[in-house]
Amino acid sequence: MNDYSWLDGIDEAQIKRERAKARQLRRTRWWQQKTAAGTCYYCGQRVAHRDLTMDHLVPLTRGGRSTKDNLVPCCKECNNKKKSLLPIEWEDYLKRFL
Ligand SMILES: [Zn+2]
Repeated sequence: MNDYSWLDGIDEAQIKRERAKARQLRRTRWWQQKTAAGTCYYCGQRVAHRDLTMDHLVPLTRGGRSTKDNLVPCCKECNNKKKSLLPIEWEDYLKRFL
């Protein structure tokens, strides 16, 4: 059985709302400017504009919100890593780019 105890207290309706907000923010000038350089926030690599995804620094499932200071452009590789790694492994992965 998976351990979903960290989901306690997080409202699914809230997550849906924040996801919708993120989608709206993707269409703004603010996001265009943020992705204009084509640089991944985590690894710093330059990637094609279309390969940048929008990532929540604090994931919605952990109570993060779709606010401008919680949203960063991120390459697909980092995005996949962030999803598949444990938080501690993700920290180690990030250290490689410091
Ligand atoms: Zn990256």
